[in-house]
Amino acid sequence: MTEPSPSVPKRALLIDLHTDALYEHIRGRKDITQRSEHGHLDIPRMQEGGVNGQVFALWVSPTELQPDEYCDFALRGAQVFDRVCSGCADTLAPVRTPDAMRRAVAAGRIAALLGVEGGHALQGRLDNLDRLFAHGVRVLTLTWNNSNELADAGGDTHQPHHGLSSLGRQAIRRMNALGMIVDISHSADRTVFDALDASLSPVIASHSGVRARRDFHRNLTDEQIRELASHGGVVGVVFLPYFLREREEDASIEDVLACIDHICQITGPDYVALGSDFDGFEARLAGLEDVTRMGAVAEGLRRLGFPAGDIAKIAGLNFLRVWEAVAATAGSNPPGR
Ligand SMILES: [Zn+2]
Repeated sequence: MTEPSPSVPKRALLIDLHTDALYEHIRGRKDITQRSEHGHLDIPRMQEGGVNGQVFALWVSPTELQPDEYCDFALRGAQVFDRVCSGCADTLAPVRTPDAMRRAVAAGRIAALLGVEGGHALQGRLDNLDRLFAHGVRVLTLTWNNSNELADAGGDTHQPHHGLSSLGRQAIRRMNALGMIVDISHSADRTVFDALDASLSPVIASHSGVRARRDFHRNLTDEQIRELASHGGVVGVVFLPYFLREREEDASIEDVLACIDHICQITGPDYVALGSDFDGFEARLAGLEDVTRMGAVAEGLRRLGFPAGDIAKIAGLNFLRVWEAVAATAGSNPPGR
């Protein structure tokens, strides 16, 4: 790979913490390498929208798959991800470290980061964390809507652990040692606090809203946001209309901006980011209809009077800071010790 010449201006980071587009690609429902008007996100539209950092989530369906297939599905997904990246080597760079993300963005490529959504993917075994990490997975969402061996989910009436299980606590310590980012979106309220208590590294909520604005289990309370911020983490504000407004047809980009503003009001500008959940839902949010519109968030924040430095943090620097902290903790606490 050629390094950019020093005359090339630094590109502003625009990072999205969660999309299901790769999952849709793996299931044969879309080809993310081709521009389409369907769904929210593909690589050509990411380029148009100026997105240069993306966490691609591998959602592991707890109903379409058998329990003994969960981890293999995620590992196969990681292989598909590698093939997609090699087929688009000029535009898409698979990144496993924060430095690689910086280099990819400086070279004008989209830095693509792999996540797994749903701790049931581990099938109750910590060695599966090591396998996923070896295949490039750098984010694990502790739960999807189902409670699992690690933790209780906010979307499940069955909450056997009252938060994080002892295996979940061990999993978080293993993730800290490996340098895998802990994601508490979808977690039950108690799980959020337990995970923050257990983790030696900052924690993210990759795609969540603000409960003070919309009382819904997928949104974080102010107390959770403050606690997550005090541990140095970041909340990726979700674009899913139903999380933003009970009458989802009333939701718009203004609600996303209001969530960002709310988090900034209570924590300052260092703990908020963008977590679209594009292709994880079908509706189109007015003003953020698809990934080509991502730049509208920065425009909206400017209009609201946010300083350029804060907008740059929200658009990407905050997430990069968290990833660097997670990687640094791993470096000082390698697996096996
Ligand atoms: Zn999700």
